[in-house]
Amino acid sequence: MMDVFFMERDPYAPIRHCYPVENVLYHGKSQYQEITVLESPYFGRVLVLDGVAQCDEKFEFIYHEFMAHVPLYAHPNPETVLIIGGGDGGVLREVLKHPEVKRAVLVDIDKEVIEVSKRFLPTIACAFDDPRVIVLNEDGYKYIQDYENEFDVIIVDSTDPVGFAHVLTTEEFFKYVYRALKEDGIYVGQTESIYYHMEIVRRIQKTLRKIFPIVDLYTAVIPGYAGYWWTMSVGSKKYQVREPSREVKVQTKLYSEEMHKHAFLPKGFYEKILSDDYKF
Ligand code: SAM
Repeated sequence: MMDVFFMERDPYAPIRHCYPVENVLYHGKSQYQEITVLESPYFGRVLVLDGVAQCDEKFEFIYHEFMAHVPLYAHPNPETVLIIGGGDGGVLREVLKHPEVKRAVLVDIDKEVIEVSKRFLPTIACAFDDPRVIVLNEDGYKYIQDYENEFDVIIVDSTDPVGFAHVLTTEEFFKYVYRALKEDGIYVGQTESIYYHMEIVRRIQKTLRKIFPIVDLYTAVIPGYAGYWWTMSVGSKKYQVREPSREVKVQTKLYSEEMHKHAFLPKGFYEKILSDDYKF
């Protein structure tokens, strides 16, 4: 038996994760990216886009629970939710656990990511048939320009900010997000890691502060993402987001009211790392 490994090609990380590979279940190229699903003994099935691991069966719940439940519980009545990206379906699965949600629109530019996830990651891509779901395959940057006062929560679950995903972290995009949210709406986006990607975190946070009255940053430790200490940036029009505004009732593995509060960085440390002079 030969030992076979997959080494990530993460565009921003100073380190490369290397997964032992038992089996390659799918490998193909869509119009937008290279898509691979491999099987690794410890992690289970891993979805890889353009050489970067997006989620694995063992730990996907961490990222997906925190991306969905923090904004949805910060909002008192999230009825209409937009997910940009998220083609693996993990954030969608968590969003739909909230009975308050009447409509969840998922806009992923790449139809093939959704198809491959439904085929090979059935425990993650398990909510696409829910009648509350609308799936569209277009660029989220273009889609959002047509909406005003429409969504309670917007979650941007995109690939790293390179290529066609880069626009999803620009000032223009955040202005469209602000306009597309209702008057008390909340935005959340994945914004890379504290240790390896502080310049990206800082740039996005500063841009959000130009647009939203309330901006915050929370984190989750995600074993499959380079840098591990992963950030999620929030822009809120009305509500403080550091605590759930409703009783937490969803079934989760990690998210809870206590974990919601703990996910936010202490305010002193948060302000300190946003200063350009702060270096690790
Ligand atoms: N949780 C993952 C991570 O951070 O590694 C992201 C997972 S999800 C599969 C990312 C999705 O974002 C991909 O399917 C990709 O097609 C989509 N995406 C990237 N840029 C996009 C854009 N401009 N509009 C819509 N979807 C986009």
